[in-house]
Amino acid sequence: MKIRNVEIWDTKCDAPMPWNPVLIRINTDEGISGLGEVGLAYGAGHSGGAGFVKNLAERYLIGADPLKTEALWDRMFRDTFWGQGGGPVVFGAMSAIDIACWDIRGKALNVPVYQLLGGKTNESLRTYASQIQFGWGPDKWEAITKAEDYGREAALAVAEGYDAVKVDPIMCPPDQSTNLSAGAFKTLVGIQKAEVIRMVHDRISSIRHAVGDDVDIIIELHCSPSVASAIQIGNVCEEFNCMYMEEPVHYLNAALQKTVTDHVKIPMAAGERLYTRWGYRQYFEQQSLRLIQPDPCLVGGITEAKKVCDYAGMYDVTVQMHVCGSPVSAAAALQIEAAIPNFQIHEHHTINLKQYNREICMQDYQPVNGQMTAPDAPGLGVDLNEKFLATQDKIVVA
Ligand code: MG
Repeated sequence: MKIRNVEIWDTKCDAPMPWNPVLIRINTDEGISGLGEVGLAYGAGHSGGAGFVKNLAERYLIGADPLKTEALWDRMFRDTFWGQGGGPVVFGAMSAIDIACWDIRGKALNVPVYQLLGGKTNESLRTYASQIQFGWGPDKWEAITKAEDYGREAALAVAEGYDAVKVDPIMCPPDQSTNLSAGAFKTLVGIQKAEVIRMVHDRISSIRHAVGDDVDIIIELHCSPSVASAIQIGNVCEEFNCMYMEEPVHYLNAALQKTVTDHVKIPMAAGERLYTRWGYRQYFEQQSLRLIQPDPCLVGGITEAKKVCDYAGMYDVTVQMHVCGSPVSAAAALQIEAAIPNFQIHEHHTINLKQYNREICMQDYQPVNGQMTAPDAPGLGVDLNEKFLATQDKIVVA
């Protein structure tokens, strides 16, 4: 089998904020195609990811055997100059290509990807409702500012059957309207005033009182705090017995995470901005994370995600794949999570409830009673919606 051409869509969705999943389709001479995604749908940089896929396709893909994923991954890693040190653009592009090749392999062998990763370990995947500070529901996209409304939004998710919710309690300040279209991530540098910590306290308290003691609360911090403010927030999380704290500090000095972990009695999670086994190494060795969140569309695709998950298992670290992309990204995460023995919980982002994201693919996998299952169709189990693609610009490398 040989790769004949690669289609790349640097999409622009009809969404209330910038939402740009970069989708790719690798087409072969045997008529089998595979789908992949660069995990840069949010933040800045999606066109960089699309451009890097184009450059990789021109240099390495046309005429190559898509089933030789290890050799292809290693070549992109060592032969691109930037692979050995790359960040989200480099590894996002490599991820999209790798995922598309796994989709082709599954279709060529007529099995879902999870069968190729060792078969199903987890029939049903416990799922949490993610990012309820934007409101929970297919039509909601707002900055929730009043503490009492946090409990209301969490209760909406619990009524749908979820037994875990995730919230960022600092993203939406109470005293101003937050411009979600501009990106709302606030930084909390240094020791915070009592009123900031009280805001966090009141919001988490509102959720705990609305959902009771048996629903897990995950605290998302988007790398906004510093060590001091992360520990202050950690003290609040301890009071409400939160399940874990995510991205309390940024990744560029792993010692920061270690300090927070040493001072807070809540399990720590991170990983959506880490790439490859090498990116995770120091976090594993210093044992500062209890749960990792690799994004299949950034960490290095399915080839690398499986290795990172297995590596995590050596340190008793469990896994929640990071999911914040199109249904292609979600399908890749589900295939991996179904197979790995150290699966913890699946993320269902509020973005996955929105029509502008659901319409990207023909299939629309949604949780039932707070549980997901991996698609059983060959490959990833998703097809792109041609109607959606017709509205988007396309690059073809042949
Ligand atoms: Mg996150």
